[in-house]
Amino acid sequence: MLVQSEVLGEMDGEPVAVENPDGRGEVVLVCEHASQRLPERYGNLGLSDEALSSHIAWDPGALAVARRMSKSLDATLVYQRFSRLIYDCNRPPESPAAMPSVSEVFRIPGNENLTEAERSRRTAALYMPFHGRIREEIAARRERGQPTVLVTIHSFTPVYFGRERPVEIGILHDTDSRLADQMLKAASDTNLYRVERNEPYGPADGVTHTLEIQALPGGLLNVMIEIRNDRIADEIGQGVAADFLTGLLRESLADIQE
Ligand SMILES: [Zn+2]
Repeated sequence: MLVQSEVLGEMDGEPVAVENPDGRGEVVLVCEHASQRLPERYGNLGLSDEALSSHIAWDPGALAVARRMSKSLDATLVYQRFSRLIYDCNRPPESPAAMPSVSEVFRIPGNENLTEAERSRRTAALYMPFHGRIREEIAARRERGQPTVLVTIHSFTPVYFGRERPVEIGILHDTDSRLADQMLKAASDTNLYRVERNEPYGPADGVTHTLEIQALPGGLLNVMIEIRNDRIADEIGQGVAADFLTGLLRESLADIQE
């Protein structure tokens, strides 16, 4: 494909990865910020190694948790193979945050003064195939009579602009809060995590784009889960979080379907 080759080279591989495509569970997991990898031709975007390994490039721990949940829920998992610094797949192309020139306290030199042509190339190479693939998965499931519950998995930094964030797990939703309501209810007596609704940010911050375009139009149950990344920094933490969230989802979906 001509357009794709201008952003992604032969060494880079595909923009989208799908694991457990034949998963029999009703949940489809999505991880937009799974990877810190940059396409080869972009070098380091002018960033330090510190910035490139930080939360501005990806959601540390999110893919690891999503993979565990994919196993326990027998869920198909779709994730973006490249850093959100090149294209943030949880943002529409017209959003400045899709290809940010500043993220938190970091300037991103390689994203400054992007031409319209470059923005279109990145959109075509990363955003379109990612959301196209999710759309195809959902359509194929519908065709074979398999319902879809869309769950996106993210992580966030414990300190943002110098301020500590006390919330540990955020249950986020847009206009359809059915699943989020049920999960918050199920989590209300846990002492494992501090769980809150639409924290550390919410739909007003433009973070529910994937839910908005992939779940809301078809009326699919959906939720976005944000985990504070210090709680999933190692395998033990990832296992505990994945088990907790798997349990919450199972219980909540059973309650909704009763
Ligand atoms: Zn994220």
